[in-house]
Amino acid sequence: MNTHRLHAHELIEQYNPEEVHYFYDPTTRLKAIVVIHSTALGPATGGTRFFPYTHWELALEDALRLAQAMSYKNALAELPFGGGKAVILGDPKRDKTPELLRAYARLVHQFNGRFTTGEDVGIGPEDLREMMQETHFLAGARGISTDLSYVTAHGVLHGLRAAFRFTMGDDNLRGRRIAVQGAGKVGYHLIRLLTEAGAQVFVSDVDARALERVQREFGAKAVEPNAIYALECDAFSPCALGGIINDQTIPLLNCKIVAGSANNQLKEPRHGDRLHEFDILYAPDYVINAGGLIAGVQDLLGGSLEKALKEAEKIYDRLLTIFEISQRERLAPHRVADRMAEERLRARRP
Ligand code: NAD
Repeated sequence: MNTHRLHAHELIEQYNPEEVHYFYDPTTRLKAIVVIHSTALGPATGGTRFFPYTHWELALEDALRLAQAMSYKNALAELPFGGGKAVILGDPKRDKTPELLRAYARLVHQFNGRFTTGEDVGIGPEDLREMMQETHFLAGARGISTDLSYVTAHGVLHGLRAAFRFTMGDDNLRGRRIAVQGAGKVGYHLIRLLTEAGAQVFVSDVDARALERVQREFGAKAVEPNAIYALECDAFSPCALGGIINDQTIPLLNCKIVAGSANNQLKEPRHGDRLHEFDILYAPDYVINAGGLIAGVQDLLGGSLEKALKEAEKIYDRLLTIFEISQRERLAPHRVADRMAEERLRARRP
């Protein structure tokens, strides 16, 4: 996020979206921004974030950035959807009321399917259920909703297997040493899947309860939060925070692969180039973590959890293609992924 604040129109031009909407509802005091970044590949979809932004330009910038990221993510997940995002300005703990959620849902309904939305920071499954009273243009509010993070973990598992196949010529995870940062919703499922596949799992978490649970249930070995970066392992799997691949952590890494669910793992794009220089294979975050999105879209289209899991397995081939192009063109995988997404969007721009 820019520390130097740009004017709204400069920000909008920088991201070049198709539409930006600002809504204010005097009855509930709902303040929301909806950005439709691209409908080149289909109607826009992206979660709604409810967050106490200190300035409205920060909210606008977040919505613009996240909507663009959704266009790229949908394009590379080969989903018939474009990219959009909404932010509600306010503190969810204080300002989230059923009336406000319903007012917001009515405005989502006005888009008549051109924008569909779902969970993000500050908006959970119970909020979507409230919103269902007013609109059906919601992803993840029906049957699959509780399993989104399970499908994400399933996709990450297949992404890790693709990374092993590419670096070591074999995608069998038996005996592989894998360090997972974060034993939350995704990390928990991933650790279970990795253990079932015979991997040796190391885990860090700042939440003692989450850590204890995966130790007890799966025999994962606990590591101090700051020690996880330097741990000697085959793969490091960030499943907690963004920005953790940076100038401080890259020199510490003692692995061949970085592949996990966390969003925005690279502090800046240049950190992906450094991983490439150091011969550490990076699975671009928005490609490997698309399982939740894939499940949300299946939910929207009335599909099943089984279908979502099958679709998430395609992350394996998608990543292999990116890794092969990266090797051939000596271009870091995150650059290859961005370029592929931009080409797909350009090719279909109406
Ligand atoms: P979560 O909040 O359930 O879990 C995150 C875990 O990380 C928590 O247990 C937390 O205690 C731990 N954590 C926080 N700081 C840490 C630190 N410094 N070191 C180690 N652990 C730390 O979140 P989640 O849903 O499991 O998502 C994890 C990541 O994956 C997030 O970046 C999220 O944006 C991304 N993601 C999630 C999904 C999904 O389906 N849930 C989909 C795509 C991307």
